[in-house]
Amino acid sequence: MRLDKLLANKGYGSRKEVKNLLKKKRVSVNGEYVKNSSQHIQPEVDIVMVDKEKINYQEFIYLMLHKPPGCISATEDKRHRTVLDLLKDEHRLFKPFPVGRLDKDTEGLLLITNDGELAHKLASPKKEIDKVYYARIEGIVTSEDIESFQSGVTLEDGYQAKPAALKILHQGEISEIEVTVTEGKYHQVKRMFEAVGKKVIYLKRKQMGELRLDERLSPGSYRELTEEELDYCL
Ligand code: URA
Repeated sequence: MRLDKLLANKGYGSRKEVKNLLKKKRVSVNGEYVKNSSQHIQPEVDIVMVDKEKINYQEFIYLMLHKPPGCISATEDKRHRTVLDLLKDEHRLFKPFPVGRLDKDTEGLLLITNDGELAHKLASPKKEIDKVYYARIEGIVTSEDIESFQSGVTLEDGYQAKPAALKILHQGEISEIEVTVTEGKYHQVKRMFEAVGKKVIYLKRKQMGELRLDERLSPGSYRELTEEELDYCL
């Protein structure tokens, strides 16, 4: 890895700024001051110091984002703002990507990482990881709906959804529910409600497996996972 990339990745600024640090003899590799910022180093072997501080290389990044409505869960898009546009440069440098997708109008928990193995594990349909959503539904959600979800509703294309747990939080003209699904098909929750003749008007993901959305994160903000949260996922 290039030395300037490592230092930029650790928040020491742009390549130009890193060059300035080298000029001022503030950066050493294995005890020797370095002049060339494009020098290649082995991050896990070489000892890189800035002033008196040892620079530890971090390969992976794990971010919990409270996805706001209006941006898409993709790494790039010509027309729309993506969830990566919400990240600071120092996090974008890791080339992260969202794990699974939420619709443009869906809010809530989205994990963003560059750890492909973890992403694969969490998104794999075989793992049947529980995903918990809060939703507002037009009309009254009934106990028959709970039973239909429990048996597995049939979607408009004939696919029979896996059983899902539906909990009614409020029954009224606009009902509020919590639904736990183990699948992540396109428009999964919206299509499951369509199958029982109802419309989702607001959807928010609250939990994936053991990982819960930190409600202190306002829509559009994010933070790194804690060690404990990472342990749930790994
Ligand atoms: N189900 C949906 O319908 N949309 C989402 O974004 C997530 C689950």
